[in-house]
Amino acid sequence: MPEGDTVYQTAKRLDAALAGQVVTTSDFRVPAYATVDLSGEIVHSVASRGKHLLMRIGDRVVHSHLKMEGEWRVHRPGERWRRPAFQARIVIETSSAIAVGFDLGTVEVFPAREESERMSYLGPDLLGPDWNAAEAVSRIAAQPDAPIAVALGDPRNLAGLGNVYVNELCFLRGIRPTRAVHDVPLEPLVDLASRVIRANRDRIARTTTGNDRRGERLWVYSRGGEPCGRCGTRIEHGRLGRNEVELRDTWWCPSCQR
Ligand SMILES: [Zn+2]
Repeated sequence: MPEGDTVYQTAKRLDAALAGQVVTTSDFRVPAYATVDLSGEIVHSVASRGKHLLMRIGDRVVHSHLKMEGEWRVHRPGERWRRPAFQARIVIETSSAIAVGFDLGTVEVFPAREESERMSYLGPDLLGPDWNAAEAVSRIAAQPDAPIAVALGDPRNLAGLGNVYVNELCFLRGIRPTRAVHDVPLEPLVDLASRVIRANRDRIARTTTGNDRRGERLWVYSRGGEPCGRCGTRIEHGRLGRNEVELRDTWWCPSCQR
């Protein structure tokens, strides 16, 4: 599942391949933007904001969100694509690179001058240059009765955490995902979120255990029924969300997390 660290790495890769180059062809395979043509425009930069990807091209911004299955790949001209063409949503070509966005969750093209306004609903970006822990803490604290896992996963509080980090952070701090915000020491939790995601920023395989071995990189995420790696108790699984539509899978160790 793409989390802030994945999107950060994707932006870095796309920026290295495209920034400063002129678009030779663009192809938006999304009905609302099928007529957008960026050819002849210069790619200024590609950046991430939480789990959002922003490609600044000419006087426009191509905004995408990877959601569950999305991915951007950079290919060389003539190289075979690594995923089937029917999954491609956006293709942006320069003379030396072809960037293909596969199965993107959200695609939007808007004028560059609207970028800050459109992204302003997002909380501080854990991997952004303007990360602000105190601001994140105060946004989370504003909903004292929300379950902590729901508050942590809400990008309006802090941007960059997906469900993997939300579950792992609760484990690392010994907190049940259902515990109410007002009952959770928020500063150490937010501080840990920032340290864990930064430690993973440039890694290929995400780990919260410090262990790189496959199957041992995470404590609780997607491990329902398995023994807890710390105490051996069976890991529990449930669903949690602000409402019925936004339910997310949640895992915890009933003895390590209170
Ligand atoms: Zn345990």
